[in-house]
Amino acid sequence: FKKLELKTQSKDELYKLGSTFNKMMDILAKNFEKQQQFVSDASHELKTPLTVIESNASMLKRWGMKDQALLEESVEAIYSEAVRMHEMTKQMLMLANHDAEWNLDIKKVDFVSLSKETSKLMKNAYGQHISVHTLYDRVIANADKQKMKQLLFILLDNALKYSMSPIELYVGYEKDHVFFTVKDHGIGIPKEDIAHIFDRFYRVDKARNRETGGIGLGLSIAKQIVDSHGGNINVVSKEGEGTSFTVTLPNN
Ligand code: ADP
Repeated sequence: FKKLELKTQSKDELYKLGSTFNKMMDILAKNFEKQQQFVSDASHELKTPLTVIESNASMLKRWGMKDQALLEESVEAIYSEAVRMHEMTKQMLMLANHDAEWNLDIKKVDFVSLSKETSKLMKNAYGQHISVHTLYDRVIANADKQKMKQLLFILLDNALKYSMSPIELYVGYEKDHVFFTVKDHGIGIPKEDIAHIFDRFYRVDKARNRETGGIGLGLSIAKQIVDSHGGNINVVSKEGEGTSFTVTLPNN
């Protein structure tokens, strides 16, 4: 990514053209760097489950036929790492597709019924009750319903993973925006980590998250969904007290 050397500070057309070119080069270089970082992070993340699969398969080959306990243990380890890799590649593909281009199917979405639907789904899947709070019968914004469902699911799934406490979902209007907030009373996020949680592959506590199966891509996907709708996502969190994520979307 070679930039032009612009010697004069003149305002002539050639100088303007040159500095525009340099600005574009900066953007290209930054994007390229981001892509390289993603490939390197992704390879690194995939290496861990692959190593577990490889070493267990090798043990099976050597002793698996004679040792029933080892056979069961290794098959279980291979299976759970394969499931993890599957989930990881699915999420990576989603991000890669978005980097290329996302075709949003924008229609009027009612966030009250969407919230109730999603909370029922979570209740059936995890048995955890999520209370929906709103002052309105309907809260409407233009959005891609499937993407909004996915966004809600990521935030609620995190709230469930990182707290076993009641989870609240608030939906409403604020000025010219539609908002929804997912609030939990769980472990919270340390202050120094808050700035990074939307980064790809970022996890506050890697050891803890291996147990909960986190990959560190959920919130970066959530942010991409929100950005693609011209909205905002904010987090307020206190360690030991809980976390709330608020999404605002233009109400037009
Ligand atoms: P993961 O797959 O690890 O959950 P995310 O991108 O969804 O990845 O979240 C990034 C990190 O932010 C998580 O690993 C976790 O440490 C932290 N985090 C996200 N949501 C919450 C929450 N509701 N409470 C506490 N920590 C959270």
